[in-house]
Amino acid sequence: MQITTASFVISNTSVEQCPKDNRPDFAFIGRSNVGKSSLINALCQRKNLAKTSSRPGKTQLINHFLINERWYLVDLPGYGYARVSKKSKKQFQQYITKYFKERKQLCCAFILLDIRHDPQPIDKEFIRWMGEAQIPFVLVFTKADKLSAKKAEAQVSNYLTTLEEEWDALPQHFVTSAAKLQGMEALQGFIGSTLDEISTIKTF
Ligand code: GDP
Repeated sequence: MQITTASFVISNTSVEQCPKDNRPDFAFIGRSNVGKSSLINALCQRKNLAKTSSRPGKTQLINHFLINERWYLVDLPGYGYARVSKKSKKQFQQYITKYFKERKQLCCAFILLDIRHDPQPIDKEFIRWMGEAQIPFVLVFTKADKLSAKKAEAQVSNYLTTLEEEWDALPQHFVTSAAKLQGMEALQGFIGSTLDEISTIKTF
């Protein structure tokens, strides 16, 4: 699936104010600084669709972008940023939880993980929560160019082995680099085939 058009639609902190039409959401989430904005820009072949963060944790909004007039790319706030106050962490949890639980149009979440890091408790906790809430998700390892191919493969394998301790079935995963445009076609292909599948079976 080629991305031909991409435009910003709305930012908010409330699921009630998200677009009300039936186009499916594909949501992107991960820890602050994981490379989410870079990945979104690379995926959409746009320089500044999502703002690459100069101050991590600043953009605490649900951002909808309309892609190809057919689906929404949803840029969710980064989690786990230490300098955010307890109060705003709690607010964040509430509206993100609400988004995931109540957004009927949500088709798939992309959970971003920095390939250089071993499994972190906050990511594992989030993955566990998504699994228990039965929200469809895939894993996207970012910044693969920062490691050799061999080391990158070992990191992914280590991550999946850790998840296997808790899960019977492992989620689908992608290895990407926004810097080298690695994995973008695979992600676009995944979104394209998911859209084809749901256009025949799902009505919201
Ligand atoms: P966000 O906070 O998750 O949106 O992360 P950003 O996209 O702002 O990226 C955080 C930092 O990681 C920035 O300095 C980016 O230049 C860098 N970065 C993001 N993606 C890549 C990548 O694929 N390769 C490399 N080498 N650096 C990256």
